[in-house]
Amino acid sequence: MKITTDLDTNCVWFRTAAEPLSLAPLYTQLHCDIAIVGAGYTGLTTALRLAEAGQDVIVVEAQEVGYGASGRNLGHCTPTLHYWPFSKLKKMYGLEYATRIIRMQTQAAKQVFSLIENYQIDCEAVCNGILRLAASPKHLKFLEKQKDFYQEHGLPGRMLTPDEARDLSGSSRFHGGWLMEGAGHLNPLGYARGLARAALSQGAKIFIQSPVNGLKKDGSQWHLQTAEGSVTANKVLLATGAYTIGPPWPGLDKAFDPVPIVGLATDPVDPALRQQVLKGDHSLVDTHGDPILYKWTRDNRLVTTAFFSGAMGRDPEKTRDYMTRKTQWVFPQLGSLNWTCYWYGNLDAQYRTIPRVFRLDDNVYSCLGFSGRGVPTATAMGSVLADLLAGANETELSVPVESFRRVLPGLATLQSISFKWGRFRDRLRMRLDGASELPPTL
Ligand SMILES: Cc1cc2nc3c(=O)[nH]c(=O)nc-3n(C[C@H](O)[C@H](O)[C@H](O)COP(=O)(O)OP(=O)(O)OC[C@H]3O[C@@H](n4cnc5c(N)ncnc54)[C@H](O)[C@@H]3O)c2cc1C
Repeated sequence: MKITTDLDTNCVWFRTAAEPLSLAPLYTQLHCDIAIVGAGYTGLTTALRLAEAGQDVIVVEAQEVGYGASGRNLGHCTPTLHYWPFSKLKKMYGLEYATRIIRMQTQAAKQVFSLIENYQIDCEAVCNGILRLAASPKHLKFLEKQKDFYQEHGLPGRMLTPDEARDLSGSSRFHGGWLMEGAGHLNPLGYARGLARAALSQGAKIFIQSPVNGLKKDGSQWHLQTAEGSVTANKVLLATGAYTIGPPWPGLDKAFDPVPIVGLATDPVDPALRQQVLKGDHSLVDTHGDPILYKWTRDNRLVTTAFFSGAMGRDPEKTRDYMTRKTQWVFPQLGSLNWTCYWYGNLDAQYRTIPRVFRLDDNVYSCLGFSGRGVPTATAMGSVLADLLAGANETELSVPVESFRRVLPGLATLQSISFKWGRFRDRLRMRLDGASELPPTL
């Protein structure tokens, strides 16, 4: 399901991010060594890394910088992998690639925060760790195993006692957890705009409001066509994520399943009240089947997420009401909440959840399928893709380069069922544990 919304008025980041850049559409015929389609994190960090290395690079964007998932995500910068344990990763990729992937991922947040520091990107960056809290005492063992695994692979962290979890979160709903250090959060649109500024400062060119509507081979070169201009390039990267539109590569939108997610943000709250919840400005994510996810913005708005299932997400009134009751269950001290900002975004989800690099033709690549880890992972992939486009051996990269593959549709449905089941299972478990107050129902 593809859902769009009026971003300028509904998405909190369009109210709070650093100023947009002043960029123009493509009106002329240009030539470059490497052309990139899409100005999200993937396209922009690749362009930045290439420009830093002195390469001649042009980015062409259909809408504006950060229009896709990069401008509307929640800004959690989580340098771990989605879902899969290392044993499964080894089965999918073999030991060599599994090791490279895990190394890339655990170092990915470092790349994000050092880019922010080096280029002085104004994006509310906070790198003081993520609270991964246990919804049940039984989940602590799992969290401890994860902490140990990631620590072994270079991501520092420590376990939190129930008292520490209560103190740092401001909620009595958790039973301890894992403080994932070297992780954090940021203003996602501010980060995208900052990456674009950095790429421009290194000599890259970026054009906006110029959907690429054709890509043709022209001798040994590739010709990208927009409504009023064109770019001829030796190599091309399609970095169009879940917002892949139009014909640059027919069928590319079958490489992922668009999974819609809702973002919600309140009006700014009283700073004294803010101090009672997540007082260390951590991101919070817990182990509920339908996870509890919160963070603050610099201007004191609480930000959360709702995953589509049943009326959740589809019905803004019901979703707002449910998220108010859920938030009050977690943080009763916050009282009434006014979710002024309510927006949608699509994930480029695929079963493996590790980004896929496809060789579409000679010197034409795409990279998508980040499945909800794009802030750190797309940033790290920028370096990988820059190496690939600059001529590195494909087999030496952190992620394999594959021939194009479609995904089986149905991930969005599966995810929706899994969140519904998760809510049911959590309530059942808590009832059996004798909890006095169960989480609310939709
Ligand atoms: C609601 C939501 C919450 C999320 N939360 C998090 C989070 O907290 N942490 C995290 O790490 N990740 C999160 N993600 C995932 C993350 O946002 C993405 O993985 C990441 O932004 C993908 O970046 P990208 O550059 O590959 O794609 P995008 O940012 O989607 O960029 C693709 C760009 O390509 C352009 N484009 C498409 N077709 C064309 C064309 N024909 N011509 C020119 N341009 C074109 C689009 O306009 C778009 O700007 C979330 C995603 C969503 C939707």
